[in-house]
Amino acid sequence: MQIRRHCVLIARKRHNAIFSSLPIGSLTLSRLPTVSFWHFLPPLLLLGGGLLVCALSGLNAFFGSLFDVLPTLLLLLGGAFCLVYGRQRELLLLLILYLLYFVLDEQLDYFREQGHVRADAALVFHLSCLLLPLLYGLFALWRERTHLAQDLVARFAVLFAVGIVAMALARRYPQELERWLSLVRWPGLYADWMTLMQLAYPAFLIAGMALLAQYLRVPRPLHAAQCVGLVGLFWMLPNTFIQPNALQVISSLSMLMIIVGVAHEAYQMAFRDELTGLPGRRALNERLQRLGRNYVIAMADVDHFKKFNDSHGHDVGDQVLRLVAGQLRKVGGGGKAYRYGGEEFTLVFTGKTLEQCLPYLEAVRQALEQYPIQLRNRAQRPGDDRQGRQMRAGTCASSVSVTMSMGVAECTDVRLTPEEVIKAADKALYSAKSAGRNCIRSHGQRRGAMRVSPQVS
Ligand code: GH3
Ligand code: MG
Ligand code: MG
Repeated sequence: MQIRRHCVLIARKRHNAIFSSLPIGSLTLSRLPTVSFWHFLPPLLLLGGGLLVCALSGLNAFFGSLFDVLPTLLLLLGGAFCLVYGRQRELLLLLILYLLYFVLDEQLDYFREQGHVRADAALVFHLSCLLLPLLYGLFALWRERTHLAQDLVARFAVLFAVGIVAMALARRYPQELERWLSLVRWPGLYADWMTLMQLAYPAFLIAGMALLAQYLRVPRPLHAAQCVGLVGLFWMLPNTFIQPNALQVISSLSMLMIIVGVAHEAYQMAFRDELTGLPGRRALNERLQRLGRNYVIAMADVDHFKKFNDSHGHDVGDQVLRLVAGQLRKVGGGGKAYRYGGEEFTLVFTGKTLEQCLPYLEAVRQALEQYPIQLRNRAQRPGDDRQGRQMRAGTCASSVSVTMSMGVAECTDVRLTPEEVIKAADKALYSAKSAGRNCIRSHGQRRGAMRVSPQVS
Protein backbone atom coordinates (compact mmCIF):
# COMPACT_ATOMS: atom_id res chain seq x y z
CA MET A 1 0.00 0.00 0.00
CA GLN A 2 1.20 3.47 -0.72
CA ILE A 3 0.08 5.85 1.96
CA ARG A 4 0.58 9.38 0.73
CA ARG A 5 0.08 12.12 3.25
CA HIS A 6 -0.32 15.55 1.81
CA CYS A 7 -2.36 18.73 1.96
CA VAL A 8 -5.20 18.68 -0.50
CA LEU A 9 -7.74 21.13 -1.68
CA ILE A 10 -10.86 19.07 -1.82
CA ALA A 11 -12.55 20.56 -4.77
CA ARG A 12 -14.17 17.68 -6.55
CA LYS A 13 -17.81 17.33 -5.74
CA ARG A 14 -17.69 13.55 -5.82
CA HIS A 15 -15.08 13.55 -3.12
CA ASN A 16 -16.94 16.07 -1.00
CA ALA A 17 -20.00 13.92 -1.14
CA ILE A 18 -18.23 10.80 -0.04
CA PHE A 19 -16.24 12.62 2.61
CA SER A 20 -19.31 14.00 4.24
CA SER A 21 -20.84 10.55 4.37
CA LEU A 22 -17.62 8.76 5.28
CA PRO A 23 -15.93 10.66 8.06
CA ILE A 24 -12.81 8.57 8.02
CA GLY A 25 -10.78 9.30 11.09
CA SER A 26 -13.69 10.61 13.05
CA LEU A 27 -14.33 7.01 14.09
CA THR A 28 -18.06 7.27 13.57
CA LEU A 29 -18.98 4.23 11.56
CA SER A 30 -21.61 4.72 8.94
CA ARG A 31 -24.60 2.38 9.13
CA LEU A 32 -23.93 -0.38 6.77
CA PRO A 33 -27.17 -1.99 5.94
CA THR A 34 -28.77 0.92 4.16
CA VAL A 35 -32.44 1.53 3.49
CA SER A 36 -33.31 -0.74 0.62
CA PHE A 37 -36.35 -1.38 -1.49
CA TRP A 38 -35.47 -5.10 -1.41
CA HIS A 39 -36.22 -5.21 2.32
CA PHE A 40 -39.80 -4.19 1.54
CA LEU A 41 -40.32 -6.31 -1.56
CA PRO A 42 -41.24 -9.69 0.03
CA PRO A 43 -43.73 -8.24 2.57
CA LEU A 44 -45.22 -5.94 -0.06
CA LEU A 45 -45.69 -8.87 -2.45
CA LEU A 46 -47.39 -10.83 0.33
CA LEU A 47 -49.60 -7.88 1.21
CA GLY A 48 -50.48 -7.28 -2.45
CA GLY A 49 -51.31 -10.97 -2.88
CA GLY A 50 -53.42 -10.88 0.29
CA LEU A 51 -55.40 -7.85 -0.84
CA LEU A 52 -55.99 -9.52 -4.18
CA VAL A 53 -57.28 -12.67 -2.51
CA CYS A 54 -59.56 -10.57 -0.28
CA ALA A 55 -60.91 -8.76 -3.32
CA LEU A 56 -62.02 -12.07 -4.84
CA SER A 57 -65.63 -12.61 -3.91
CA GLY A 58 -65.14 -16.12 -2.56
CA LEU A 59 -62.32 -18.60 -2.18
CA ASN A 60 -62.80 -22.09 -3.55
CA ALA A 61 -63.08 -24.98 -1.11
CA PHE A 62 -59.36 -25.74 -1.17
CA PHE A 63 -58.17 -22.18 -0.48
CA GLY A 64 -61.00 -21.65 1.99
CA SER A 65 -59.85 -24.59 4.12
CA LEU A 66 -56.20 -23.65 3.63
CA PHE A 67 -56.72 -20.17 5.06
CA ASP A 68 -58.77 -21.66 7.91
CA VAL A 69 -55.79 -23.67 9.15
CA LEU A 70 -52.98 -21.40 7.95
CA PRO A 71 -52.74 -19.11 11.01
CA THR A 72 -52.45 -22.14 13.35
CA LEU A 73 -49.97 -23.82 11.02
CA LEU A 74 -47.87 -20.66 10.79
CA LEU A 75 -47.89 -20.21 14.55
CA LEU A 76 -46.66 -23.77 15.06
CA LEU A 77 -44.08 -23.92 12.28
CA GLY A 78 -42.97 -20.28 12.48
CA GLY A 79 -42.99 -20.40 16.28
CA ALA A 80 -40.78 -23.51 16.30
CA PHE A 81 -38.45 -21.87 13.76
CA CYS A 82 -38.17 -18.70 15.89
CA LEU A 83 -37.70 -20.69 19.10
CA VAL A 84 -34.90 -22.80 17.65
CA TYR A 85 -33.08 -19.70 16.37
CA GLY A 86 -33.65 -17.71 19.57
CA ARG A 87 -35.88 -15.10 17.91
CA GLN A 88 -38.06 -14.26 20.89
CA ARG A 89 -39.32 -11.00 19.49
CA GLU A 90 -40.69 -12.62 16.36
CA LEU A 91 -42.13 -15.54 18.32
CA LEU A 92 -44.17 -13.16 20.48
CA LEU A 93 -45.26 -11.13 17.46
CA LEU A 94 -46.57 -14.32 15.88
CA LEU A 95 -48.40 -15.11 19.09
CA ILE A 96 -49.97 -11.63 19.28
CA LEU A 97 -51.17 -11.92 15.68
CA TYR A 98 -52.53 -15.39 16.34
CA LEU A 99 -54.38 -14.28 19.48
CA LEU A 100 -55.97 -11.44 17.53
CA TYR A 101 -56.99 -13.89 14.82
CA PHE A 102 -58.36 -16.36 17.35
CA VAL A 103 -60.43 -13.78 19.27
CA LEU A 104 -61.93 -12.17 16.17
CA ASP A 105 -62.46 -15.48 14.38
CA GLU A 106 -64.66 -16.65 17.25
CA GLN A 107 -66.80 -13.56 16.81
CA LEU A 108 -66.88 -14.03 13.07
CA ASP A 109 -67.97 -17.68 13.36
CA TYR A 110 -70.80 -16.67 15.68
CA PHE A 111 -71.85 -13.92 13.28
CA ARG A 112 -71.86 -16.36 10.33
CA GLU A 113 -73.82 -19.03 12.22
CA GLN A 114 -76.36 -16.80 13.95
CA GLY A 115 -76.70 -14.01 11.41
CA HIS A 116 -76.07 -11.39 14.08
CA VAL A 117 -73.05 -10.42 16.19
CA ARG A 118 -72.49 -11.68 19.73
CA ALA A 119 -73.45 -9.40 22.62
CA ASP A 120 -69.82 -8.67 23.48
CA ALA A 121 -68.72 -8.20 19.84
CA ALA A 122 -68.34 -4.41 20.01
CA LEU A 123 -66.33 -4.56 23.22
CA VAL A 124 -64.04 -7.35 21.95
CA PHE A 125 -63.57 -5.62 18.62
CA HIS A 126 -62.79 -2.20 20.15
CA LEU A 127 -60.36 -3.74 22.64
CA SER A 128 -58.62 -5.62 19.81
CA CYS A 129 -58.35 -2.43 17.74
CA LEU A 130 -56.66 -0.63 20.62
CA LEU A 131 -54.48 -3.41 22.00
CA LEU A 132 -53.25 -4.77 18.66
CA PRO A 133 -51.25 -1.69 17.51
CA LEU A 134 -49.98 -1.05 21.04
CA LEU A 135 -48.81 -4.62 21.68
CA TYR A 136 -47.54 -5.13 18.13
CA GLY A 137 -45.60 -1.85 18.32
CA LEU A 138 -44.24 -2.58 21.81
CA PHE A 139 -43.14 -6.14 21.05
CA ALA A 140 -41.71 -5.19 17.66
CA LEU A 141 -39.58 -2.46 19.27
CA TRP A 142 -38.52 -4.57 22.25
CA ARG A 143 -34.95 -5.59 21.52
CA GLU A 144 -33.71 -9.05 22.42
CA ARG A 145 -31.56 -9.26 25.55
CA THR A 146 -28.59 -11.49 26.18
CA HIS A 147 -30.34 -14.00 28.40
CA LEU A 148 -32.78 -15.68 26.05
CA ALA A 149 -34.78 -17.52 28.71
CA GLN A 150 -35.23 -14.39 30.86
CA ASP A 151 -36.11 -12.39 27.79
CA LEU A 152 -38.75 -14.90 26.79
CA VAL A 153 -40.23 -15.02 30.29
CA ALA A 154 -40.37 -11.20 30.46
CA ARG A 155 -42.21 -11.01 27.14
CA PHE A 156 -44.70 -13.70 28.09
CA ALA A 157 -45.23 -12.00 31.46
CA VAL A 158 -46.06 -8.64 29.83
CA LEU A 159 -48.40 -10.24 27.30
CA PHE A 160 -50.07 -12.28 30.02
CA ALA A 161 -50.47 -9.26 32.32
CA VAL A 162 -52.01 -7.12 29.57
CA GLY A 163 -54.36 -9.98 28.61
CA ILE A 164 -55.46 -10.61 32.19
CA VAL A 165 -56.08 -6.91 32.92
CA ALA A 166 -58.03 -6.47 29.68
CA MET A 167 -60.15 -9.57 30.36
CA ALA A 168 -60.80 -8.59 33.96
CA LEU A 169 -61.90 -5.08 32.98
CA ALA A 170 -64.08 -6.46 30.17
CA ARG A 171 -65.78 -8.90 32.56
CA ARG A 172 -66.25 -6.47 35.45
CA TYR A 173 -67.12 -3.27 33.64
CA PRO A 174 -68.27 -4.28 30.16
CA GLN A 175 -70.56 -1.34 29.46
CA GLU A 176 -68.33 1.32 30.96
CA LEU A 177 -65.32 -0.02 29.10
CA GLU A 178 -67.21 -0.17 25.81
CA ARG A 179 -68.46 3.38 26.28
CA TRP A 180 -64.98 4.59 27.16
CA LEU A 181 -63.49 2.89 24.11
CA SER A 182 -66.09 4.07 21.62
CA LEU A 183 -66.09 7.66 22.85
CA VAL A 184 -65.26 10.21 20.14
CA ARG A 185 -62.85 12.40 22.04
CA TRP A 186 -61.85 14.78 19.27
CA PRO A 187 -64.88 15.24 16.97
CA GLY A 188 -62.92 17.63 14.71
CA LEU A 189 -60.47 14.82 13.96
CA TYR A 190 -63.06 12.17 13.18
CA ALA A 191 -63.70 11.76 9.45
CA ASP A 192 -66.34 9.63 7.71
CA TRP A 193 -63.82 7.06 6.48
CA MET A 194 -62.77 6.27 10.07
CA THR A 195 -64.74 3.15 10.86
CA LEU A 196 -62.65 2.08 13.85
CA MET A 197 -63.11 3.66 17.25
CA GLN A 198 -61.15 6.90 17.48
CA LEU A 199 -58.43 5.79 19.91
CA ALA A 200 -57.26 3.12 17.47
CA TYR A 201 -55.99 5.75 15.01
CA PRO A 202 -53.45 7.45 17.28
CA ALA A 203 -52.42 3.96 18.49
CA PHE A 204 -51.75 2.82 14.90
CA LEU A 205 -50.07 6.14 14.09
CA ILE A 206 -47.70 5.96 17.06
CA ALA A 207 -46.89 2.30 16.40
CA GLY A 208 -46.38 2.99 12.67
CA MET A 209 -44.08 5.95 13.24
CA ALA A 210 -42.07 4.10 15.88
CA LEU A 211 -41.64 1.09 13.56
CA LEU A 212 -40.66 3.31 10.64
CA ALA A 213 -38.12 5.13 12.83
CA GLN A 214 -36.77 1.75 13.92
CA TYR A 215 -36.39 0.69 10.28
CA LEU A 216 -34.65 3.95 9.34
CA ARG A 217 -32.29 3.61 12.30
CA VAL A 218 -31.56 -0.06 11.67
CA PRO A 219 -32.64 -1.01 8.14
CA ARG A 220 -33.28 -4.75 8.31
CA PRO A 221 -35.69 -6.97 6.35
CA LEU A 222 -37.50 -7.83 9.57
CA HIS A 223 -38.07 -4.19 10.51
CA ALA A 224 -39.46 -3.57 7.02
CA ALA A 225 -41.75 -6.61 7.38
CA GLN A 226 -43.05 -5.27 10.69
CA CYS A 227 -43.94 -1.92 9.07
CA VAL A 228 -45.75 -3.54 6.14
CA GLY A 229 -47.46 -5.99 8.51
CA LEU A 230 -48.89 -3.12 10.52
CA VAL A 231 -50.26 -1.51 7.34
CA GLY A 232 -51.96 -4.81 6.47
CA LEU A 233 -53.52 -5.05 9.94
CA PHE A 234 -54.70 -1.45 9.71
CA TRP A 235 -56.52 -2.35 6.50
CA MET A 236 -57.81 -5.65 7.88
CA LEU A 237 -59.56 -4.50 11.06
CA PRO A 238 -62.28 -2.31 9.52
CA ASN A 239 -62.86 -5.04 6.91
CA THR A 240 -63.10 -7.96 9.35
CA PHE A 241 -66.91 -8.18 9.29
CA ILE A 242 -67.26 -6.84 5.74
CA GLN A 243 -64.82 -8.83 3.58
CA PRO A 244 -65.41 -12.56 4.14
CA ASN A 245 -61.72 -13.60 3.99
CA ALA A 246 -59.97 -10.49 5.30
CA LEU A 247 -59.27 -11.83 8.80
CA GLN A 248 -57.84 -15.23 7.84
CA VAL A 249 -55.90 -13.98 4.82
CA ILE A 250 -54.32 -10.84 6.29
CA SER A 251 -53.59 -12.44 9.69
CA SER A 252 -51.90 -15.36 7.93
CA LEU A 253 -49.92 -13.12 5.62
CA SER A 254 -48.83 -10.77 8.42
CA MET A 255 -47.49 -13.82 10.24
CA LEU A 256 -45.86 -15.03 7.05
CA MET A 257 -44.20 -11.61 6.61
CA ILE A 258 -42.52 -12.02 10.00
CA ILE A 259 -41.37 -15.55 9.18
CA VAL A 260 -40.11 -14.50 5.73
CA GLY A 261 -38.31 -11.55 7.40
CA VAL A 262 -36.52 -13.97 9.74
CA ALA A 263 -35.61 -16.26 6.81
CA HIS A 264 -34.43 -13.27 4.73
CA GLU A 265 -32.12 -12.18 7.55
CA ALA A 266 -30.85 -15.72 8.03
CA TYR A 267 -30.00 -15.81 4.32
CA GLN A 268 -28.22 -12.45 4.54
CA MET A 269 -26.28 -13.59 7.58
CA ALA A 270 -25.13 -16.68 5.75
CA PHE A 271 -24.33 -15.19 2.37
CA ARG A 272 -23.58 -11.47 2.88
CA ASP A 273 -20.54 -10.01 4.47
CA GLU A 274 -21.80 -7.71 7.20
CA LEU A 275 -18.99 -5.16 7.06
CA THR A 276 -18.84 -4.49 3.34
CA GLY A 277 -22.28 -5.60 2.19
CA LEU A 278 -20.67 -7.70 -0.55
CA PRO A 279 -21.57 -11.38 -0.93
CA GLY A 280 -19.27 -13.35 1.35
CA ARG A 281 -17.18 -16.50 1.12
CA ARG A 282 -20.17 -18.86 1.29
CA ALA A 283 -21.82 -17.05 -1.61
CA LEU A 284 -18.57 -17.32 -3.55
CA ASN A 285 -18.39 -21.06 -2.89
CA GLU A 286 -21.95 -21.42 -4.18
CA ARG A 287 -21.08 -19.38 -7.28
CA LEU A 288 -18.02 -21.51 -7.95
CA GLN A 289 -20.24 -24.58 -8.27
CA ARG A 290 -22.19 -22.95 -11.09
CA LEU A 291 -19.45 -21.55 -13.30
CA GLY A 292 -19.50 -22.42 -16.99
CA ARG A 293 -16.58 -23.51 -19.14
CA ASN A 294 -14.94 -20.11 -19.50
CA TYR A 295 -14.43 -17.81 -16.61
CA VAL A 296 -11.86 -15.53 -15.05
CA ILE A 297 -11.12 -15.16 -11.35
CA ALA A 298 -9.23 -12.23 -9.85
CA MET A 299 -7.94 -12.11 -6.29
CA ALA A 300 -7.51 -8.57 -4.92
CA ASP A 301 -5.66 -7.72 -1.72
CA VAL A 302 -5.33 -4.30 -0.08
CA ASP A 303 -1.68 -3.28 0.14
CA HIS A 304 -0.01 -2.86 3.53
CA PHE A 305 -3.33 -2.93 5.26
CA LYS A 306 -1.88 -4.02 8.58
CA LYS A 307 0.19 -0.84 8.68
CA PHE A 308 -2.90 1.17 7.85
CA ASN A 309 -4.76 -0.40 10.75
CA ASP A 310 -1.83 0.20 13.06
CA SER A 311 -1.55 3.87 12.06
CA HIS A 312 -5.21 4.85 11.89
CA GLY A 313 -7.03 2.29 13.99
CA HIS A 314 -9.24 -0.67 13.24
CA ASP A 315 -12.42 1.39 12.81
CA VAL A 316 -10.83 3.50 10.09
CA GLY A 317 -9.56 0.26 8.56
CA ASP A 318 -13.13 -1.00 8.48
CA GLN A 319 -14.26 2.16 6.69
CA VAL A 320 -11.51 1.68 4.14
CA LEU A 321 -12.60 -1.90 3.52
CA ARG A 322 -16.10 -0.58 2.79
CA LEU A 323 -14.65 1.94 0.40
CA VAL A 324 -12.61 -0.74 -1.38
CA ALA A 325 -15.72 -2.94 -1.56
CA GLY A 326 -17.67 0.00 -3.00
CA GLN A 327 -15.10 0.37 -5.78
CA LEU A 328 -14.94 -3.34 -6.49
CA ARG A 329 -18.72 -3.54 -6.65
CA LYS A 330 -18.61 -1.10 -9.57
CA VAL A 331 -16.37 -3.32 -11.68
CA GLY A 332 -17.57 -3.47 -15.27
CA GLY A 333 -17.64 -6.33 -17.76
CA GLY A 334 -20.19 -8.34 -15.82
CA GLY A 335 -17.73 -9.00 -12.99
CA LYS A 336 -19.05 -9.79 -9.53
CA ALA A 337 -17.17 -8.94 -6.36
CA TYR A 338 -17.07 -11.09 -3.20
CA ARG A 339 -15.31 -10.60 0.10
CA TYR A 340 -12.98 -13.57 0.33
CA GLY A 341 -11.94 -12.78 3.89
CA GLY A 342 -9.96 -10.11 5.77
CA GLU A 343 -8.72 -7.54 3.26
CA GLU A 344 -8.95 -9.94 0.33
CA PHE A 345 -11.62 -9.85 -2.32
CA THR A 346 -12.48 -12.05 -5.29
CA LEU A 347 -13.87 -10.95 -8.62
CA VAL A 348 -15.55 -13.47 -10.90
CA PHE A 349 -16.19 -12.94 -14.62
CA THR A 350 -17.99 -15.55 -16.66
CA GLY A 351 -17.95 -16.04 -20.42
CA LYS A 352 -14.93 -13.73 -20.80
CA THR A 353 -11.28 -14.17 -21.55
CA LEU A 354 -8.52 -12.86 -19.33
CA GLU A 355 -7.60 -10.21 -21.93
CA GLN A 356 -11.18 -8.96 -21.98
CA CYS A 357 -11.28 -8.64 -18.18
CA LEU A 358 -7.98 -6.86 -17.64
CA PRO A 359 -9.16 -3.35 -18.64
CA TYR A 360 -12.04 -3.56 -16.15
CA LEU A 361 -9.74 -4.68 -13.36
CA GLU A 362 -7.23 -1.98 -14.25
CA ALA A 363 -10.01 0.63 -14.12
CA VAL A 364 -10.96 -0.49 -10.59
CA ARG A 365 -7.34 -0.50 -9.45
CA GLN A 366 -6.84 3.03 -10.77
CA ALA A 367 -10.11 4.30 -9.33
CA LEU A 368 -9.06 3.14 -5.87
CA GLU A 369 -5.56 4.50 -6.19
CA GLN A 370 -6.85 7.92 -7.21
CA TYR A 371 -9.41 8.06 -4.46
CA PRO A 372 -8.15 10.39 -1.74
CA ILE A 373 -9.44 9.50 1.70
CA GLN A 374 -9.62 12.46 4.00
CA LEU A 375 -8.71 11.91 7.61
CA ARG A 376 -10.18 14.18 10.20
CA ASN A 377 -10.53 13.97 13.91
CA ARG A 378 -13.69 14.20 15.91
CA ALA A 379 -12.17 17.16 17.78
CA GLN A 380 -11.82 19.04 14.49
CA ARG A 381 -15.38 18.41 13.38
CA PRO A 382 -17.21 21.58 12.32
CA GLY A 383 -19.94 23.04 14.46
CA ASP A 384 -22.42 23.43 11.62
CA ASP A 385 -22.87 22.68 7.90
CA ARG A 386 -21.55 26.07 6.72
CA GLN A 387 -18.40 25.70 8.75
CA GLY A 388 -18.06 22.15 7.48
CA ARG A 389 -18.34 23.26 3.86
CA GLN A 390 -15.75 25.97 4.44
CA MET A 391 -13.41 23.49 6.08
CA ARG A 392 -13.81 20.99 3.28
CA ALA A 393 -13.38 23.61 0.61
CA GLY A 394 -10.51 25.64 1.93
CA THR A 395 -8.36 24.13 4.57
CA CYS A 396 -5.55 21.69 4.61
CA ALA A 397 -6.77 18.18 5.27
CA SER A 398 -4.74 15.09 5.83
CA SER A 399 -5.40 12.70 2.99
CA VAL A 400 -4.32 9.16 2.26
CA SER A 401 -4.86 6.83 -0.61
CA VAL A 402 -5.17 3.10 -0.53
CA THR A 403 -4.01 0.75 -3.22
CA MET A 404 -4.53 -2.89 -4.00
CA SER A 405 -2.75 -5.61 -5.88
CA MET A 406 -4.50 -8.17 -8.02
CA GLY A 407 -3.75 -11.57 -9.44
CA VAL A 408 -5.85 -12.94 -12.29
CA ALA A 409 -6.27 -16.39 -13.76
CA GLU A 410 -8.61 -17.82 -16.30
CA CYS A 411 -10.09 -21.21 -16.91
CA THR A 412 -9.86 -22.44 -20.45
CA ASP A 413 -9.54 -26.09 -19.72
CA VAL A 414 -12.60 -27.93 -18.41
CA ARG A 415 -10.39 -30.18 -16.32
CA LEU A 416 -9.45 -27.25 -14.12
CA THR A 417 -11.52 -26.84 -10.99
CA PRO A 418 -12.49 -23.35 -9.75
CA GLU A 419 -10.29 -23.98 -6.68
CA GLU A 420 -7.30 -24.52 -8.97
CA VAL A 421 -8.08 -21.30 -10.83
CA ILE A 422 -8.29 -19.45 -7.50
CA LYS A 423 -4.92 -20.91 -6.53
CA ALA A 424 -3.45 -19.71 -9.82
CA ALA A 425 -4.92 -16.22 -9.25
CA ASP A 426 -3.47 -16.28 -5.73
CA LYS A 427 -0.02 -17.11 -7.12
CA ALA A 428 -0.34 -14.22 -9.55
CA LEU A 429 -1.32 -12.00 -6.61
CA TYR A 430 1.85 -12.92 -4.77
CA SER A 431 3.85 -12.00 -7.80
CA ALA A 432 2.02 -8.63 -7.96
CA LYS A 433 3.02 -8.07 -4.32
CA SER A 434 6.62 -9.01 -5.07
CA ALA A 435 6.64 -6.67 -8.05
CA GLY A 436 6.08 -3.70 -5.77
CA ARG A 437 2.26 -3.85 -5.18
CA ASN A 438 -0.45 -1.60 -6.66
CA CYS A 439 -0.44 -3.57 -9.91
CA ILE A 440 -2.11 -6.51 -11.63
CA ARG A 441 -0.40 -9.71 -12.61
CA SER A 442 -2.03 -12.47 -14.57
CA HIS A 443 -1.47 -16.17 -14.67
CA GLY A 444 -2.32 -17.20 -18.21
CA GLN A 445 -3.35 -20.85 -18.20
CA ARG A 446 -2.95 -21.06 -21.95
CA ARG A 447 0.54 -19.64 -21.95
CA GLY A 448 1.42 -21.12 -18.59
CA ALA A 449 3.48 -18.02 -17.89
CA MET A 450 3.19 -14.88 -15.85
CA ARG A 451 2.27 -11.82 -17.81
CA VAL A 452 2.55 -8.25 -16.72
CA SER A 453 -0.54 -6.19 -17.29
CA PRO A 454 -0.32 -2.64 -18.62
CA GLN A 455 0.70 -0.36 -15.78
CA VAL A 456 -0.87 3.03 -15.55
CA SER A 457 0.37 4.36 -12.25
P1 GH3 B 1 0.30 -6.95 2.03
O1 GH3 B 1 0.48 -5.70 1.26
O2 GH3 B 1 1.42 -7.91 1.86
O3 GH3 B 1 -1.03 -7.60 1.73
O4 GH3 B 1 0.31 -6.54 3.55
P2 GH3 B 1 -0.92 -6.47 4.54
O5 GH3 B 1 -0.48 -5.71 5.73
O6 GH3 B 1 -2.11 -5.94 3.82
O7 GH3 B 1 -1.21 -7.99 4.82
P3 GH3 B 1 -1.32 -8.79 6.16
O8 GH3 B 1 -1.90 -10.12 5.75
O9 GH3 B 1 -0.03 -8.81 6.89
O10 GH3 B 1 -2.36 -8.00 7.03
C1 GH3 B 1 -3.71 -7.99 6.74
C2 GH3 B 1 -4.35 -7.17 7.82
O11 GH3 B 1 -5.72 -6.94 7.54
C3 GH3 B 1 -4.29 -7.80 9.18
C4 GH3 B 1 -5.61 -7.54 9.80
O12 GH3 B 1 -5.47 -6.79 10.97
C5 GH3 B 1 -6.34 -6.71 8.77
N1 GH3 B 1 -7.74 -7.06 8.68
C6 GH3 B 1 -8.29 -8.24 8.29
N2 GH3 B 1 -9.63 -8.18 8.33
C7 GH3 B 1 -9.95 -6.92 8.77
C8 GH3 B 1 -11.17 -6.27 9.05
O13 GH3 B 1 -12.28 -6.80 8.88
N3 GH3 B 1 -11.11 -4.97 9.48
C9 GH3 B 1 -9.93 -4.35 9.67
N4 GH3 B 1 -9.93 -3.09 10.08
N5 GH3 B 1 -8.75 -4.96 9.43
C10 GH3 B 1 -8.77 -6.23 8.99
MG1 MG C 1 -3.98 -10.45 2.77
MG1 MG D 1 -2.94 -7.00 2.22
